[in-house]
Amino acid sequence: MRGSGSGTDGTGEEILAVRRFWERLGLPGLVDVHTHFMPERVLRKVWDYFDGLGPLTGGLEWPITYRSDEDQRLATIREFGVRAFTAMLYPHKAGMARWLNSWAVDFARRTPDCLHTATLFPEPGVEAYVLEAVEQGARVFKAHVQVGAYDPADELLDPVWGLLAEAGVPVVMHCGSGPAPGKHTGPGPVAQVLARHPRLRLVVAHLGMPEYEDFLDLAERYGEVRLDTTMAFTDFSERLAPFPRGARPRLAGLGDRILLGTDFPNIPYRYVDQLYALERLGLGDDWLRSVCHGNGARLFGLAQPQELS
Ligand SMILES: [Zn+2]
Repeated sequence: MRGSGSGTDGTGEEILAVRRFWERLGLPGLVDVHTHFMPERVLRKVWDYFDGLGPLTGGLEWPITYRSDEDQRLATIREFGVRAFTAMLYPHKAGMARWLNSWAVDFARRTPDCLHTATLFPEPGVEAYVLEAVEQGARVFKAHVQVGAYDPADELLDPVWGLLAEAGVPVVMHCGSGPAPGKHTGPGPVAQVLARHPRLRLVVAHLGMPEYEDFLDLAERYGEVRLDTTMAFTDFSERLAPFPRGARPRLAGLGDRILLGTDFPNIPYRYVDQLYALERLGLGDDWLRSVCHGNGARLFGLAQPQELS
């Protein structure tokens, strides 16, 4: 049963379907750059938010599919065959990021297949704790411009972007205006950051939904900009923010810089639906292999299929 909190998410049937997807492509599994693991009480608050969306938005229902305890969620993502995933966590206010980062250090230590993730907020001291996280081995950062309601071009963050660009540590940024616009969402503030830090390894979450084409422009302009697929192309998102058909060839052109992301476990449909949504774009198996494994493996220095025995 899904959504019951009973911890039986990821049915046997779905696990088989996910595994068939990557086995058919000859992959050793999936690399998912956008999954959420965070302190339990923070995650519960996130779920409360999605539970309350229906009344707030006049009908957008967002039932969390994988609502179970952390052990079960980890078991599920491993059964799917996800070789590497992240613990996207983010503060909604000042004074929280350092605490989240200390939780993430511990989580990464006890979860070797999780890419050690850290976060940040424009506040005094941010440069010091970001540096500390990098020194502790953080391999990816998450910045949530919509939830944090901050300007990514805030001057407090300027040295941070410089530091991350220099260290080559990617930052997954929710900077598009979906599912709802924020004060600083959209391509403008991000374009300012990139103008100052053109080598920043920025991963635009959700493919920049709904401003897909503006963010594709940025990726075409800056060679270190990547996009994650999180929720894009699914029936759910196509209803709210359809990807423009005419822009599909641009996805092919950026095939070495698009990364599988899913938003597991906070999705209102099955994990496999994201994979099928990518498949039905019709961009071919090589594209799928790069997006679902190769690009992430290269970015994070994981072994590629030919290197695995
Ligand atoms: Zn997310």
